[in-house]
Amino acid sequence: MDTTPAFPTLRIVSHPLVQHKLSILRDRETPTKIFRELVDEIAMLMAYEATNDLAVEDAAVDTPLERAVGKRVSGKKLTLVPILRAGLGMVEGIYRLVPGARIGHIGLYRDHDTLQPVDYYFKVPGDAPERDFFVLDPMLATGGSAVAAVSSLKRAGAARIRFMCLVAAPAGVQRLATAHPDVLIYCASLDRGLNEQGYILPGLGDAGDRLFGTR
Ligand code: URA
Repeated sequence: MDTTPAFPTLRIVSHPLVQHKLSILRDRETPTKIFRELVDEIAMLMAYEATNDLAVEDAAVDTPLERAVGKRVSGKKLTLVPILRAGLGMVEGIYRLVPGARIGHIGLYRDHDTLQPVDYYFKVPGDAPERDFFVLDPMLATGGSAVAAVSSLKRAGAARIRFMCLVAAPAGVQRLATAHPDVLIYCASLDRGLNEQGYILPGLGDAGDRLFGTR
């Protein structure tokens, strides 16, 4: 994983397979089916890297030959929290890697008058203070949704939160890191910037539309 001095909480997953798959994901000609498979695979590969510091404890195991001491991840199950709707595309890949994970959901919309994100749906496990959360959204663009999602989780008692996206814009990273300096941010690419509509450049377009074929 790479780091950059400008954003101390940002981790860029530079693994060659992630970067290779991301280039195909960016391609405007990549069809919905492949796009969805790639988001799934990249999320899984990123989760492998983003979980490399999970706490483990000794665990006795009986092999066919003798008793051995192995390791298991300690603590409560991880909780994945996709931000609806594009975050849904990242869930299954990570879930295959961490099949005991719990899955919460956060739905956000932007209020037309205040322009602030409002959560219209919020459901996470009740024992939030004891869990590690991964908030999922493929695009960290302006950072408005990410900040709102993390704030909602903290109001629910969550204390250990990470944010995982595929592509990040500097403005979004800055906003999330300023509002929540305790939250590590994982991405596959830190892109150049945003256009007037808030799309990431060069980006990959509207992730939700490309995932669900609603373009
Ligand atoms: N959301 C998207 O789906 N794409 C962007 O580029 C920015 C926000």
